[in-house]
Amino acid sequence: MKSIFLKRGKEESLRRFHPWIFSGAIHHMSEEPKEGEKVMVFTSEDEYIATGHFQIGSIMVRVLSFDNEDINQHFYERRLAIAKDVRQRIGVLGGDNNTYRLVHGEGDNLPGLVIDIYGNTAVMQAHSVGMHIDRQMIAKALKTVMGDDLKNIFYKSETTLPFKAELGQENGFLLGGDTNDVAMENGLKFHVDWLRGQKTGFFVDQRDNRSLLEHYSHGRKVLNMFCYTGGFSFYAMRGGAELVHSVDSSQKAIDLTKANVELNFPDDPRHEAFAEDAFKFLDQMKTPYDLIILDPPAFAKHKDALHNALKGYTRLNKKAFEKIQPGGILFTFSCSQAVNKDQFRTAVFTAAASAGRNVRILHQLHQPADHPINIYHPEGEYLKGLVLYVE
Ligand code: SAH
Repeated sequence: MKSIFLKRGKEESLRRFHPWIFSGAIHHMSEEPKEGEKVMVFTSEDEYIATGHFQIGSIMVRVLSFDNEDINQHFYERRLAIAKDVRQRIGVLGGDNNTYRLVHGEGDNLPGLVIDIYGNTAVMQAHSVGMHIDRQMIAKALKTVMGDDLKNIFYKSETTLPFKAELGQENGFLLGGDTNDVAMENGLKFHVDWLRGQKTGFFVDQRDNRSLLEHYSHGRKVLNMFCYTGGFSFYAMRGGAELVHSVDSSQKAIDLTKANVELNFPDDPRHEAFAEDAFKFLDQMKTPYDLIILDPPAFAKHKDALHNALKGYTRLNKKAFEKIQPGGILFTFSCSQAVNKDQFRTAVFTAAASAGRNVRILHQLHQPADHPINIYHPEGEYLKGLVLYVE
């Protein structure tokens, strides 16, 4: 294995188990590793400190282990077994739920790897070249850990890998291939489009927040803005909403939403879906909604886009505050990792003040337990939300 030597003092964050090594921390390398190769990392005193995947970029090493161990199939089996045990303890396996995140990158000490489970199909996503190179080994380890519960592994990394052109074909089955594309979340059914869908096909991270919404939906006129595959909409319908309108700028998302609502509530006249821009829809809407969900895509993918992102959240939430009925409930989210809880809350506060509404915070929401945050990697906290009562 090739070796990387750090500059003096740059081992500090690794002693606190932070799993990233930035290019600026590196003093020299024994030999330039290939992208995705496993490397051993040493302090300036030549002391072993970590093993990880090498990649060209600002994060040069993603740490897999702080113990001097081999990164082989057994290593992945051990990590995956712990990830599975965590999910068993959370209680997301079985019952009327067969959809959950099994591996959440750094949160499960596997930086660059995401695995979502939909029934007996796993959708695996590599966000680093190292995980891409190890994909067959990980697939074997996954099969060993999951046993007969796992029939298919779909590998979907076309949009998540850097330099994808040089890595060849990224989407395809590593195991099986005969999937039932209907999965279940808390007893509600939905189609998963492994091939073309965003992320791994469904936004698994909103499960708990959708359940909470169901609780607030009885008798309400609901607007599900940025609906994607309609997750919040079918929960609102089960919760007894009077009407549910789903809006997304993508026609494909609207088609998926309609199909999913139909799967759970065939021919239910309470639901309508609109392919429309959010801002335009909010400006022109006539229906007096008293429950609005705002779950936009990440407005800031990087720190330098932060200022504009905060302005975007303020502008969007202001429109909702201006339009929502008195006594209305607003579920508002940000999934931008670059925007922290306080910044998001300030953006929503600014929106409420400029709309002149009296607003109470009822719940502060976050990502669910199957998207754990490694305590040494606070960057892993990305989803935040507020449930607000608007007088
Ligand atoms: N709430 C969804 C996830 C939302 S993802 C769920 O629970 O699954 C964000 C969605 O916003 C995407 O589907 C994207 O198509 C949509 N979107 C992006 N920009 C938009 C805009 N300007 N107006 C409306 N929808 C938009």
